[in-house]
Amino acid sequence: MYYNSINNKLNIKNFCDIFFTNIPKNKTLFFPFKIPFFRSKQLNYLKNLNYINFAFEISKLFLNNISDEDLYNILHISYYNKKILNLIKLNNNNYLLNLNNGNTLTFKDIAMLPLSNLIKYFSFKNKKKMIIFCATSGDTGSSANNSFKNIINTKIFTFFPFNMISNIQKKQITTLNFKNIFNYSIIGNFDISQHFVKKIFENIKNNEKISLLSVNSINWFRIIMQIVYYCYISIKNFNNNKFDFIIPSGNFGNALAAVLSKKMGFPINKIISCTNDNFYLDNYIKNNKIENFILKKTIAPSIDITIPSNFIRLMNNNCLKKKTINDINKNVFSDKIYNKNIISSIEYFYQIYNKIYDPHTIISLCSLYKEKIDNQIVVSTSYPIKFIFSIKKIIPNIKIKTNIKKIFFLKEKFKIYPQNFLIIINSIKNNINV
Ligand SMILES: *Cc1c(COP(=O)(O)O)cnc(C)c1O
Repeated sequence: MYYNSINNKLNIKNFCDIFFTNIPKNKTLFFPFKIPFFRSKQLNYLKNLNYINFAFEISKLFLNNISDEDLYNILHISYYNKKILNLIKLNNNNYLLNLNNGNTLTFKDIAMLPLSNLIKYFSFKNKKKMIIFCATSGDTGSSANNSFKNIINTKIFTFFPFNMISNIQKKQITTLNFKNIFNYSIIGNFDISQHFVKKIFENIKNNEKISLLSVNSINWFRIIMQIVYYCYISIKNFNNNKFDFIIPSGNFGNALAAVLSKKMGFPINKIISCTNDNFYLDNYIKNNKIENFILKKTIAPSIDITIPSNFIRLMNNNCLKKKTINDINKNVFSDKIYNKNIISSIEYFYQIYNKIYDPHTIISLCSLYKEKIDNQIVVSTSYPIKFIFSIKKIIPNIKIKTNIKKIFFLKEKFKIYPQNFLIIINSIKNNINV
């Protein structure tokens, strides 16, 4: 698959080029040259495959410079014997899709694990050390550290905002005792952490020994791995009905994957992205208005985002024809649920159904119950235990069975850094030995 720059059609690159380009010139984002399309005969063939074979058939179309055998192995190591997703019936014609079964209990694990194995593969093939950077508002960091913890010839540097992520998210990031994990807690908010990671890429260049790589949500391999589960679930036989996906959205990576799956010919109806009080997306999708909002802290921190970079990627894509843009407008919808309604809904679902949902999943669930439309799938991106302290404020005597408690007894490993780039970059250089 070739990719071209969203603002210059003639700027064409292959998968590896874009994979190893962390800060493209002129902030250029890349988009697949041509989105693969599956006809019904091919869909019928895919229907019978298991998850690994299915992931192989889909992902190989987006990649190049990697043999079929190697790709299959990467997927096999990542997914063999693992519960990737499961579908739960909510009522007659509505379902809950759990994507939160991975090691750190968020959907991000599904893409991060094969990504770590792909990077291990490139490290071996190119005989280079891989230096991974991740700026996180909570879930990406824990998922990335977990996925990269055992990867040889790889070091991971995770930046998180001091005191601005949930206590459990912090524990998940910092209690992994592996030599290749370096945690930087930066005084300031997520944007500041991200700013420093970008500056590091400007200051330390790849050479014949090392490659620096970012694993943020605009990473194409993560998107590809997310496309796989939407394609997979959409052709499980729902009495031949097309379903809507309701997706709690921050950077729009998960929702972008659903949009692309639909474009690939998979039987999906609407994609409904849901936000909280940080509703840039909702405003743009409903009113075509771009406004810069000030970040509001909510009970659903993983989607507290002001500018959804993957949505920008989709809409700014000059190479998309007008027809395609109209098509997106016809297929992509949005909803927003305010913080106070998230809180009252967590309580409501507990009182009425005796069910506890995490503050992200509940947003989609609210949207479904508000409209009462059939044939919808609520996408569950996380798990309540990760937000137990916020949930306890709503339902004080709640008990959730979990084995996550052990992380409270483990030693945390992280260093706090002031907003001083010189101190940060020197420490990074020391740790990578350059
Ligand atoms: C990251 C995350 C999201 C948002 O996903 P995007 O791809 O950024 O839209 C939603 N819920 C949870 C729990 C997350 O960790």
